[in-house]
Amino acid sequence: MKKLALLVFVVGYLLQTVSAMEAKKMIVFSYEKPYQYELINGTYKVKATIKNESWVAGSIVRFNEEELKVTKLENGDMQILLPLIGNSGIITVKKGKKNIISTQHFEPLIPADWDYFADGKIHLIVSSHQDIGWMDVPDTCRKERVHDITIPALDLMEKEPEFKFEMEQSLNLMEVLEDSPENKQRLIDTYKSGNFEWGATFTQPYEGLESSEQLVRQSYLGRRWIKKNLPGMDAHVAYNVDIPGRSLQVPQLFKKSGIDYLFVSRMKEGFYNWYSPDGTSIFTYSPGNYGWFHYHHKVLDEDAITALHELHKTLKSWNEYYRERNIPPHYGAVISADAGGPESYKEVIDAWNEIAKNAGIKIPELAHSTALEFLKEIDVPEAKIDSIYGERPNLWLYIHGAAHYEAVKAKREAAVTIPSAEIFNTINCELNNDFSLYPQKELDKAWYNAIYPDHGWGGKNGHITDSVFRVALETGNEIGTKLLNSSLNSIAKKVDLKNTQNIVVFNDLSWSRDGNATVDISNLKGTNWIVTDNNGDKIPTQLVTIDGKKELVFSLSDMPSIGYKTFTIKKGKRNVTSINTGSNFCDNQFYTVELGQGGITRLYDKKLKREIFNTTSMLAGDLFHMGYTGNGAGEFVTMQEPNFAMDRADDKKSSWELIESGAVYSKFQSAFEMDTFNVEQNITVFHKKKQIDLEYVIPNWPGTQNRQLRVLFPLQMKNDAQISYDVPMGMVHIGKDELTMRPGGFAWGGTYRQKSEEIRPREIQNFITANGNGFGFTMSTNVVTADWVDPSMNSADYPVINSVLLSSHKSCHWQGNWYDQKGSHTFKFSITSHEEGWKNGFHFGIENNHPLLPIVKANKQKGSLPAEKSFVSTSNPFAVITTMKKAEDDNDVVIRVVETEGVDKKVEIKLNNGFINASKTDMIEENPKRLNQKGNVLQIELGKSAVETYKLK
Ligand SMILES: [Zn+2]
Repeated sequence: MKKLALLVFVVGYLLQTVSAMEAKKMIVFSYEKPYQYELINGTYKVKATIKNESWVAGSIVRFNEEELKVTKLENGDMQILLPLIGNSGIITVKKGKKNIISTQHFEPLIPADWDYFADGKIHLIVSSHQDIGWMDVPDTCRKERVHDITIPALDLMEKEPEFKFEMEQSLNLMEVLEDSPENKQRLIDTYKSGNFEWGATFTQPYEGLESSEQLVRQSYLGRRWIKKNLPGMDAHVAYNVDIPGRSLQVPQLFKKSGIDYLFVSRMKEGFYNWYSPDGTSIFTYSPGNYGWFHYHHKVLDEDAITALHELHKTLKSWNEYYRERNIPPHYGAVISADAGGPESYKEVIDAWNEIAKNAGIKIPELAHSTALEFLKEIDVPEAKIDSIYGERPNLWLYIHGAAHYEAVKAKREAAVTIPSAEIFNTINCELNNDFSLYPQKELDKAWYNAIYPDHGWGGKNGHITDSVFRVALETGNEIGTKLLNSSLNSIAKKVDLKNTQNIVVFNDLSWSRDGNATVDISNLKGTNWIVTDNNGDKIPTQLVTIDGKKELVFSLSDMPSIGYKTFTIKKGKRNVTSINTGSNFCDNQFYTVELGQGGITRLYDKKLKREIFNTTSMLAGDLFHMGYTGNGAGEFVTMQEPNFAMDRADDKKSSWELIESGAVYSKFQSAFEMDTFNVEQNITVFHKKKQIDLEYVIPNWPGTQNRQLRVLFPLQMKNDAQISYDVPMGMVHIGKDELTMRPGGFAWGGTYRQKSEEIRPREIQNFITANGNGFGFTMSTNVVTADWVDPSMNSADYPVINSVLLSSHKSCHWQGNWYDQKGSHTFKFSITSHEEGWKNGFHFGIENNHPLLPIVKANKQKGSLPAEKSFVSTSNPFAVITTMKKAEDDNDVVIRVVETEGVDKKVEIKLNNGFINASKTDMIEENPKRLNQKGNVLQIELGKSAVETYKLK
């Protein structure tokens, strides 16, 4: 009895377990791909297969109340028609009349609820990102851009009028017009019809590598060029999608060029009002990463169902973002690839919209679009867009200055010579009353070359791309230098000179300054020569004889803003100033300088009564030769640090020699051998200006791979000192002027989480300055890459201003070249100490990249110009003139001024020529607004950090 009961219990239990297990079993539906779906009685059904689930055979399968059609296939599998669109529900499998053997939750491929985007639109933005080179040499890439991308895009637009496409820079438009001028009208027509958009900048540059005016010219050769050369066309979106970096004043410079939108990437997906320090902002969009839909998601590459299924998931994560900000329900799916061609998504789009029309629910529309069309939908007054501010330090800076020193040196020189050529050619035209003398064409060519290289240094066959880039930069600088010299010579001819052996020295900066000039007097016999000023007074002069060449170096003070002073070389005895100096020390009115093996062991500032350097663990001017295995620009997300495979100048045997000394300066020289190369180190202590120059001549850099070279200046300052440096048209104060949000966005190497203030080194324009503990230190150089943190294992807890001279790493392209930079290089630094405050180092910091320009006039001459003159000046030394040029469209004069102090000010600009009409224009000389002023003085209100352009008739 007991046994029987137990048996019944056990059997019952087993039966119960079996049926319970059956009830828990889930059917796995395998959708056939491409999806097979049809509209049956007003609802979409999609085919799926049920494999190896024989227990389902002969059952009735229901979704909610609806019976689903199940067919047995020949191979024993079953085919089922599932609902394609709808809310989730329960699928039941019933055997016989009552016996439910399985229930499961089921979600149709396309959910019914599109929430915030139900009435919206998805913009498929097909775009082509292509560096000038990188994927191969510029010529090959250019052919591909013209013949495999742009022209096929035009053809496709003819075939499919809904197709839209965009190219990211005006350079690409110039290329297609040159190579295929017969397409001009098609380009205009497809722009006008909204099918083809072009980027509003010339290239996609490293913004922080461009000089102030070079960055402005991105929109001259961008939007302005497009408008002028292709009537009816315009450009309102600037693209710079590849570089994880943004320069402080870009929002202002672009916005004031009539560019409404900035399209970036490698930054958290979303919309931003990105502010510049003057308060101007530009509406900025990032898709997270420009290539993700193409390379990673690929959700539009299959069919409409996949697209609907996947994009619903995507949009789900955007409902709240859009709702909170009241942004219209438009979503951008950017399909951009490196050299991506014009890919039509017509099939997917048509199928999507057909489904949306028949589905009986609200599904957003899908369409080809452009960034402009998309952003215009988003940028409405009621949308509350996040505000962000500041510099995003460029994570890719190692690829340019440090990896291409000689090329970038030419870019930096061009940054000085071309605007100076504009300024003095304008003055020359004014003096001749003839603007036909203005070398517009040559200047255009100079600018084109000086800003031609984009962010794609290196790459496949990168040695060729790099040499093309270098030639462009050197060409830009050569033209600038030639045009500058010819204008100075022409102006110097007009100066009234009563003596023989005159020197007319020009200053191209818009403030009065001190400095030195050098003239070759090899043609004059003897050594007793002096330089006198216009009053006949002797000025500090030093005779230098090198390799049979005889030069006079003289010290100048109060050189007029954008102007000149005249000096005379005369026979006479030079004043001997008694400078206390020896082979390795110097004591002048400013400093006590002591030198040791590898650099400066002591610098005592006599005015400030303090030691400037902390030389306990390295010297000032010390050279560190370190390891570096980064690749400069690539898919990494934090700055790549050098390593401690270290070789230091202070370890090397060397001794100093005083090689020149006089009234102007004392120069010391030392030579030493590093592990793989030699160094000649020159230190020049100036006696009339508070300045010390350090020069490093490396005649035989061996190009050893994965090495890095730095020069260091360890400061006797606490770590909380304020570090500041100059950027195009502005100043960045570390910890204050960087983007505060972690950028987000992604690379193949992860997401960009590093905080901007922690990113170092940085791209400087001319100088970096440290201020704290009662004094300031400023280092000026043409070397781009600067840092303020000790890179050695010592981890100094005080600022160590340092500069990366060279970095010999490999291109991030798998077939890319090494940036070995084998050969001879010279690097220069000028340093000074001053009262605390970055403003006390500002002008010094810039002056050292702007040499004073002497023109020798051997004979007397009658002229209309006096011995000394300023052609243009501002009433405030922090209101800086960045150019004065002939207007692009007529013979008016254009002046651009930047406020550099961060303080609103009223400024008077004094001019040589009177004007009868003045107007303020935008950055590209358009939209003039009359100022109702005339005369010789332009009165302007210059807002803090503002860049303003004025046009004078
Ligand atoms: Zn790129």
